Amino acid sequence: MRLRPGVAIDLGTVNTLVYVSGRGVVLEEPSGIAIDQTTGKVIAVGEAADALTGKEPRDIMVVHPLRDGVIADLDAATAMLQSFLGRVRLRRGTPRASAVVCVPSGATWVERRSLVAAVEAQQPRYRARLVDEPVAAAAGAGFGRTDGSGAFVVDIGGGTTEAAVLAGGHVVRARSLRLGGNTMDEAIVTAVKAEVGLLIGRNAARNLKMALGLGEGAAGWMEVVGVDAARRAPRVEYIPGRLVADALERPVAAIAGSVQEMMSDVPPNMAEDIVREKIRLAGGGAMLPGLASKIEAVVGIPALVVDDPLRCVIRGAAEILEHGDKPSGGE
Ligand code: ADP
Ligand code: MG
Repeated sequence: MRLRPGVAIDLGTVNTLVYVSGRGVVLEEPSGIAIDQTTGKVIAVGEAADALTGKEPRDIMVVHPLRDGVIADLDAATAMLQSFLGRVRLRRGTPRASAVVCVPSGATWVERRSLVAAVEAQQPRYRARLVDEPVAAAAGAGFGRTDGSGAFVVDIGGGTTEAAVLAGGHVVRARSLRLGGNTMDEAIVTAVKAEVGLLIGRNAARNLKMALGLGEGAAGWMEVVGVDAARRAPRVEYIPGRLVADALERPVAAIAGSVQEMMSDVPPNMAEDIVREKIRLAGGGAMLPGLASKIEAVVGIPALVVDDPLRCVIRGAAEILEHGDKPSGGE
């Protein structure tokens, strides 16, 4: 059993999760921070900051410091991390704790350095270790990290989609697409405005996406409240599943196309493992109704959604924190 304290952090574009050894996942909050523009003071972090998004209170700016999976605003990211780590505070006087932090595989050296600096600037002191997100995602998706067999994992987050092929926990091929659930929401906002003349918020678009998805089989519909584009007055509208499915077609085709391209680039020796173990989909976007079967149809290989996809990366990061590079089974 490990005696040293430690934390694992999944810093996502939409959600941040923190795991503390011995305590489990203790924090799951939107990756957002609200700042007073006149004083520069932090007004709210996480859930409370996200609730202000799109409502534009005067003088308050809501920042989502991670865009496209990388740190777009370092000061805001540092302040957000400071607040989250402050909330899960390890006991004072504990020896320097280790922190496993997941980074997108496409992160540059500068972005990696800034993340380490942001974590190591915290009190109490942490020693940060960066882990490529696909490595954590694969561990969280149930692939072994030491047996050398092939794994194919696709993590569909808010700002990015990371597809990777791994062997024994090492990245063989990785591809990061700067597109995810946020792009799907935007596509729905645009389509609802164009087709029914209704302006809707991102949250309403997200609800349509989650309820109707790619609309296989039963077409369905859902009620939304928005603002009439012409009259500028609130209006209730019934949105058909077909409209949402059409809006999602382009971003979903980009994701499936990226998975297919990576599959065509896989070393032949790994093909058998991948077909047997299936393509495993993680991240919130994996829950889009109809996505797994769409990927399966395009790529021609079975695909499945992992258990609890929103916590897949933090599960893997926690395993790496607790077991390091040792085999995860047995002992
Ligand atoms: P990140 O790692 O980038 O923070 P997450 O893995 O937390 O992203 O996933 C967040 C994304 O998943 C958001 O775009 C959210 O709208 C989307 N999402 C969550 N649940 C569902 C669902 N049931 N169907 C489709 N998308 C979903
Ligand atoms: Mg993520």
